[in-house]
Amino acid sequence: MTGTFELRAQAVIVTSGGIGGNHDLVRANWPERLGTPPQKMISGVPAHVDGKMLGITEAAGAHLINRDRMWHYTEGIENWNPIWERHGIRILPGPSSLWLDARGDRLPVPLFPGFDTLGTLHHIMSTGYDHTWFVLNQRVIGKEFTLSGSEQNPDLTGKSVRGVIDRARADVPGPVKAFMDHGVDFVVEKDLDALVRGMNALTKEPLIDEAALRRTLAARDREIANPFTKDLQVTAIRGARKFLGDRLIRAVTPHRLLDPKAGPLIAVRLNILTRKTLGGLETDLSSRVLTEGGEPLPGVYAAGEAAGFGGGGVHGYRSLEGTFLGGCLFSGRAAGRAAARDVS
Ligand SMILES: Cc1cc2nc3c(=O)[nH]c(=O)nc-3n(C[C@H](O)[C@H](O)[C@H](O)COP(=O)(O)OP(=O)(O)OC[C@H]3O[C@@H](n4cnc5c(N)ncnc54)[C@H](O)[C@@H]3O)c2cc1C
Repeated sequence: MTGTFELRAQAVIVTSGGIGGNHDLVRANWPERLGTPPQKMISGVPAHVDGKMLGITEAAGAHLINRDRMWHYTEGIENWNPIWERHGIRILPGPSSLWLDARGDRLPVPLFPGFDTLGTLHHIMSTGYDHTWFVLNQRVIGKEFTLSGSEQNPDLTGKSVRGVIDRARADVPGPVKAFMDHGVDFVVEKDLDALVRGMNALTKEPLIDEAALRRTLAARDREIANPFTKDLQVTAIRGARKFLGDRLIRAVTPHRLLDPKAGPLIAVRLNILTRKTLGGLETDLSSRVLTEGGEPLPGVYAAGEAAGFGGGGVHGYRSLEGTFLGGCLFSGRAAGRAAARDVS
């Protein structure tokens, strides 16, 4: 075929998302403060979140800033029924699971489940291992595990009131039970010896010492009977249960993890799960993409995660959980208005 093709678009709005599906890019931009990037990561975003359009826009003259701002979860499990490559699911945990590092030591206070994602990531990267463990039992998993992702919550996405009621009534919700049965990161056993054997079989080295873990669990369980406990996780569980919503559906009644009536015991290997890109294409307040010199790149706008949710990194380094869509909508509106104005 001969001839030339001339593109006469007057405005291009880049809304291609971040880089979380491209682990090479995540590693290349890994924040220095977090040390060496993890050897193993799983993807909490679809494969199309590959960052290619960021490179293309940069090659066209755009300025990419705050590349080391990123948000990864620390409670990732491999999806037993994946939709995309390396598909990981984030557990949204209640407060009761015991969180252990790869060697079986409890994470330091206040790194309890659901407390401080980036603080926990920082700690994990200082341990020299990529994975951690939740140790819990069936009573805890039934009430405290929610799985992130639309396909994991068919009752909510299908707007099924009956489905939501059934979930609340079930000993263990269906999607969570499926992971207990099929998930490669799950070990479910009646006794601690077998649990530790299963945990050690999942890692390259057998890092968990059964006697040490038994002591850790016994020490934690002893504090359940102590109203003035200095175990701050037990205090946190009691605090969470003061809020009626958490008491009903999120935080289980404090009990001994080794209580056989609450079993079987469960260990979950947790992986680093890539999710959000907090830096991106630098833009002005009209979502116009800027060059390195600070001038607008003619006809190019960016919004959403591609623009670090606005400006090239409006959230800063730490961000506030769950507030990302707001930046997508806001920067999208600004981009749409500016583009419409500029082409009219
Ligand atoms: C499981 C999950 C749960 C989340 N929960 C929350 C939450 O509770 N609160 C919150 O605020 N945020 C949450 N987020 C984050 C939020 O969903 C994303 O940050 C947001 O969707 C980003 O929107 P976006 O439009 O910028 O990019 P995306 O939603 O990634 O959309 C980018 C689009 O561009 C397309 N695309 C990419 N490259 C090209 C190309 N070259 N040509 C054509 N099309 C292309 C892609 O196919 C895709 O449709 C969650 C994300 C996930 C994955």
